[in-house]
Amino acid sequence: MDAIATDIPDTLKLVDHPTARNAAVATRELPIGTVVLTEPVLTSVLFSYQTGRRCDYCNRSDQAEPELRIRKCTGCEVQGYCGELCQKRHWDSGHKLICRVLFRFMMSDACAALPHDQEVDCRVLSQLVAEIALQRPESAASIDIFESLLPSPHGLEVPPIVPMRRVDHNLLSRVPTLYQRFPNNNHVVQNHLRGIGVAILPLTSRLLNHSCSPNAVLRYILSASEKPRAEVVTIREISEGEEVSIPYLDPAISYPERQNRLKDTYGFDCSCKLCTVQSSMDIHPVDATQVLPLVDLLDPMLCQLAFGEGITIDFQLPEEQLCVRLPEDLQPLMDDSILSVLTERFRLAFRERFFEAAMTVGKTIFAIYLCIYPPYYPQIGVHVLDMAQVAWEKYLNEKIRENLDIVSIYLAIARRILDVYGREGDSGGPLDEANALLGTIQSEEQK
Ligand SMILES: [Zn+2]
Ligand SMILES: [Zn+2]
Ligand SMILES: [Zn+2]
Repeated sequence: MDAIATDIPDTLKLVDHPTARNAAVATRELPIGTVVLTEPVLTSVLFSYQTGRRCDYCNRSDQAEPELRIRKCTGCEVQGYCGELCQKRHWDSGHKLICRVLFRFMMSDACAALPHDQEVDCRVLSQLVAEIALQRPESAASIDIFESLLPSPHGLEVPPIVPMRRVDHNLLSRVPTLYQRFPNNNHVVQNHLRGIGVAILPLTSRLLNHSCSPNAVLRYILSASEKPRAEVVTIREISEGEEVSIPYLDPAISYPERQNRLKDTYGFDCSCKLCTVQSSMDIHPVDATQVLPLVDLLDPMLCQLAFGEGITIDFQLPEEQLCVRLPEDLQPLMDDSILSVLTERFRLAFRERFFEAAMTVGKTIFAIYLCIYPPYYPQIGVHVLDMAQVAWEKYLNEKIRENLDIVSIYLAIARRILDVYGREGDSGGPLDEANALLGTIQSEEQK
């Protein structure tokens, strides 16, 4: 614990935990929306489909900020930067050891044969090794914490790394040990809830345990000339002494699959509140052809549970996931095969402008989300914002004045949730979109 004592923020302290290494508990009452931990990535790489569209150092996108121009590094023709400062900082943090050989390495048979996740790991690992080889004082503490993390429960096949001249045998011999910490510690960098790359966040990994009913979530802040910065933000009030936890994977994944993945990747059995209630439910995949008949049958009961008398301007989000008091008849809806059919249907109906159908299926998805996710979970906010957009398009199509109220109701719920999650990633994200729609509705109301 000593290595990290100076890095723990004053909102948290480490205590013993019956099964995990430690638990990070709140040192005081933390209101909803509090940033409890901030950590710049030790190193991060973009998924390959993002390269050329984002800066490899600050991760900002030229799509979101049209004044940005991503220029390729003339040395390797692989990495791209939004400006000279980002390029210099990336160079100093390790790219200088990699640049000269990167292109040839990426084109090599060994690299081309790697599956997608190993290809990403290979780039993260190379970047980490370069960072360690340079022995920069500013990353020393973070590297120490990374090396102190628990290793994966499995033996792993180590991907190749970019051959670097200035890396000695001692460091090369540590590569398997470094890699052993990847699968159960590395994080996906998210922009508006979509993955854009992979990051190493040693302090976050060391401090925060997993829960499928988390009271905090990660968000990423992208700023000019800086590495992406992860922030842990609370999504409900946390009392003093209560453990702060984040989701390592999506709580909407079906219970049996979630347990398997947590066991396999992280080596533990989750006994969070959601897992405890779902462990006694009969959850199994529903055949795609059976999803809609099942949903039609159960929808009235589900909506009664989630929305009571309906979604009105006084609608209050529940205190916690509705799963904790889910009637037995609704339990089959907790399998993710249901959500995948419904979300696809919602997307198609919206795209094809079947607004009534989109509103109906969207409402069911909202209700299922309220069963699975904590009420201020950002995915719910983004979905309800989509509902507000559908309702707005429907209003424009029909121009029925009362339907404008429906837009306002969904938008108010979305803004309440997204305000807690706050701004993250590129500008023009869900919160900005919600505020823009609010402006549009207000000027429509004045007409
Ligand atoms: Zn940049
Ligand atoms: Zn380069
Ligand atoms: Zn759990």
